[in-house]
Amino acid sequence: MDLNALYGTDDEFERFVYSHSPGYDEPTVRAAFTHAVPLKTIVIFCYDARAAEIPFVLAKTLPDEVYPGEVVYDEAGMKVGSTATIMPVVVAGGRAVDALRSITIGNHLFGVTNIVVVHHTFCGTSSFTPHGLLDAFKAEQGKDLSGVYEQESLAIGNLRESLEHDVKLLRASVGIPRSVNIYGYLFDINTDEFRLVVSDPKVGR
Ligand SMILES: [Zn+2]
Repeated sequence: MDLNALYGTDDEFERFVYSHSPGYDEPTVRAAFTHAVPLKTIVIFCYDARAAEIPFVLAKTLPDEVYPGEVVYDEAGMKVGSTATIMPVVVAGGRAVDALRSITIGNHLFGVTNIVVVHHTFCGTSSFTPHGLLDAFKAEQGKDLSGVYEQESLAIGNLRESLEHDVKLLRASVGIPRSVNIYGYLFDINTDEFRLVVSDPKVGR
């Protein structure tokens, strides 16, 4: 499929960008986003297909959470919002390190009340060690990654420790608002049950 044939020249791509819309005013647009999307909980979980149920099950487990909710349309039939309160961030192992930028942006647009980190039983990231991954990458790609990623975030050796590590990492991150509650849950991949392992309620306010 030729997307340029569908959408015309490169100049016309500006039509699909909010900041190029007529009369654009950044604070007004930000307020409109906050109003249109009742997001309050970011859920970080693994990209393992067996873990895909996590946001659905969490919405049934926690009070007042909605996922996937319904898309909201305006009078012209444009998709302008949604009723979901949960926003998924899907990364290897459900590790917090990969979610930081998304949380900062989600908070800017919608305001975030809760961050839920979910690690799951029998995760692929518990099948190797940090050293095993680094050694294999060096042998296969000829490159040293040891200074690129924090080793504690590469593999899971203990599910309580990985959850405690990630909740601490989030709380210490400069891009995470102090006013969020942070939780670490273990998800049983075979029974779809959640267990709260770490609870770090908001600081102050
Ligand atoms: Zn996994």
